[in-house]
Amino acid sequence: MGYYDVAQVCLNGHVINDNYKSSPEFNQDFCDQCGEKTITECLSCHEPIRGDYHVEGIFGGTPGYTPPSYCYKCGNAFSWIQMALDSAKELLDIDEAINDADKETLMDSMKEISKNTPKTELNAIKIKKIAKKLGTDTYDAFIKIAVDIGTEIAKKSLLGS
Ligand SMILES: [Zn+2]
Ligand SMILES: [Zn+2]
Repeated sequence: MGYYDVAQVCLNGHVINDNYKSSPEFNQDFCDQCGEKTITECLSCHEPIRGDYHVEGIFGGTPGYTPPSYCYKCGNAFSWIQMALDSAKELLDIDEAINDADKETLMDSMKEISKNTPKTELNAIKIKKIAKKLGTDTYDAFIKIAVDIGTEIAKKSLLGS
C-alpha cells in the first residue's frame, strides 16, 4: 500500500513542495514566485492537501504533480480555483462586446471545466464558442485561465482546433 505525502502550495496555486513531510528542506512559509502565504491543508476543514504518492519499495514519486482543485474531504474549491474564477469574472466585466446572458454562461462553464464530470467537455466547447464574442485581449486571457484550471479533458478540448 502506498500513502500520500502532504503538499505545500501557495494561495495562488504554485506548488512549493509536494513532499512536505519527507523532504522538509524544500518547505517555504511564503511563495518565491508571488509572495503569497503557503498552505498545507484545506482552509475549510483542515484536511492535509494530498501531495506526492509514495509506494513502498519504489523510489521517487509521481512526476508532474499538480495541486488538487477541490478538497477530497469537504469538497470546497481551493483558493487558487476561486481566485482564477474571480479574475475570469473581472475580465468579463471589463469586456464591452459581450452581453450579460453570455457572461453568465461563460462563468457557469468556467466553474464546470475545473471539475471532472460527464459535462466537462461540453462546457469546454461552450467556452470555445461563446468566448469568440469577446475582444481579442479578453479572449486570450479568458482562455488562458480556462486552460489553467481546466481538467485534462477540458484542456485538450480548449487547445484543440
Ligand atoms: Zn505563488
Ligand atoms: Zn476541506
